[in-house]
Amino acid sequence: MNLPSIHVDTKKIQRNAKTVVNMCKEQGIEVMGITKGICAYTPAVQAMLKGGVAKLGDSRIKNIKDMRKAGINVPIYLIRIPMLAEIEDTVKFADGSLNSELIVIEELSKKAALLNKIHKVILMVDVGDLREGVLPEDVVDITGKILRLPNIEFEGIGTNVGCYGGVLPSYENTKILVDLAEEIENKYGISVKTLSGGSTVNLELLRKGEIAPGINQLRIGEAILLGTDIKNLKPIPGTEQNTIILKTQVIELKTKPSYPIGKIGRDAFGKTVHFEDKGNRKRAIVALGQQDCGLDGIAPIESSIEILGASSDHMILDVTECKQEIQVGSIIEFNVSYGGMLDLTTSKYIEKY
Ligand SMILES: *Cc1c(COP(=O)(O)O)cnc(C)c1O
Repeated sequence: MNLPSIHVDTKKIQRNAKTVVNMCKEQGIEVMGITKGICAYTPAVQAMLKGGVAKLGDSRIKNIKDMRKAGINVPIYLIRIPMLAEIEDTVKFADGSLNSELIVIEELSKKAALLNKIHKVILMVDVGDLREGVLPEDVVDITGKILRLPNIEFEGIGTNVGCYGGVLPSYENTKILVDLAEEIENKYGISVKTLSGGSTVNLELLRKGEIAPGINQLRIGEAILLGTDIKNLKPIPGTEQNTIILKTQVIELKTKPSYPIGKIGRDAFGKTVHFEDKGNRKRAIVALGQQDCGLDGIAPIESSIEILGASSDHMILDVTECKQEIQVGSIIEFNVSYGGMLDLTTSKYIEKY
């Protein structure tokens, strides 16, 4: 086993996928499984599919290409607005994309015509979180323009909250989509197939039965991959947590003072640091650092171990209160949050199992 490494419990991810898919199906909602949080790690993606997810989404073309290379042939959507620099790959490797700029959709149309493909477009609507999306009052107009573009299938509209502005989903903001879809249908005489209402943070609303009827898709990453909902700060009922464990090894174990000796300047990242003098403490250094992962993205499974800090490659733990015996060579295990998962799966220094 190479260290540091993350250990992905694909059985748990599969069961989480099944739970989330069933939870949504009961209310007529399909799940687009979002793979970006784990860099589309193939075994995790396959677990999602085994759990009943029939459609995938990722924000990075590179991940989508990798999934195609791994033989995954279900529909995949690019869920970040395509860059003008990635139009060709978007048309080639993704079945559809989330969009908010007419100029981008026009380029997708041209490229799709050239490659003799149909590209599906979900138009994003900004209902208040102020990340991506067209403002509600502009949606009907832009839809008319999209409908005229060759080789583009206008699949529907979508929204995203809880990401930049921290706005929580509500009956009111999901209802905006439903009303807009109705307006589009009346004006253009088409049926709006997909109403993509949001992400993991919407599951709480779904559970309470407060999602506006008519929403028929959610794009779910975190609830499947980790069983958590960071925005509502709780686990998703019926799912399993601790799907991913990080392991690394102790490289130094010594008893040292807790207050640095000498004149204190700034740390390795230019930050001013403060220390509490707790006298001598037993400290372990593990092979891991901020180059691998932000400090608040992981937590020691043994709760008596405290993370004191880390430079690029050295993480210092206070193990004074730890019940298990620790020595040089001991393996320390951590649970990871969404941010930790993102960092760790992106790092080339972390082996995945
Ligand atoms: C990341 C992302 C999601 C999934 O979010 P989770 O909180 O992981 O469920 C859905 N939609 C868009 C547009 C995203 O960028």
